[in-house]
Amino acid sequence: MFEKEKMIEVAKTGRSKCRGCKQLIAKDEMRFGEEVDSLYGDGDIATLWYHLKCAAERRPNELRETLDKFQGKIPGRAELDQLLANNKGKKAGGGGGKYPYAEKAPSGRSKCLKCDKTIDKDSIRVAVEREVEIAGVMRPSAGYLHPGCAVAFTGDKKLGAALKTNSKLTDAELAPVLKQL
Ligand SMILES: [Zn+2]
Ligand SMILES: [Zn+2]
Repeated sequence: MFEKEKMIEVAKTGRSKCRGCKQLIAKDEMRFGEEVDSLYGDGDIATLWYHLKCAAERRPNELRETLDKFQGKIPGRAELDQLLANNKGKKAGGGGGKYPYAEKAPSGRSKCLKCDKTIDKDSIRVAVEREVEIAGVMRPSAGYLHPGCAVAFTGDKKLGAALKTNSKLTDAELAPVLKQL
């Protein structure tokens, strides 16, 4: 196995896609790369690329760490530091607490916010953030939806894109969910 690295570099081509905003990263633009195990389970390493600003949103801790080690000059560094400061303490994305995301229901106890029916154990549910009153205080908490109920409940036409970004599911697990949206 290789040691996985994180890096900041100038994009050598204009072909890499940002995992944050899903747009192409222009040639010669600075990008943040994070090596991960390839999805295909073949022991290969894939690199996920982000615009620096998108990395500040999605991978603030990883970007900060890499920036600290980076020797070169970064255009818009002050703005980047500001973004990172704003995102301090936020949990990283990738299904680590960023809503909305899709996941396998660990039990058959959760109820759909939209249709009020229970969500079957091991079926895929969509988690959204909502405010819940706990002991008289409004606190953010997760609510769950059937994929087929999710767009109707949230009114979010771009829900699929957000789920793709935030969920830990594999593409194969996520594909049927996206179809039901
Ligand atoms: Zn981007
Ligand atoms: Zn439902």
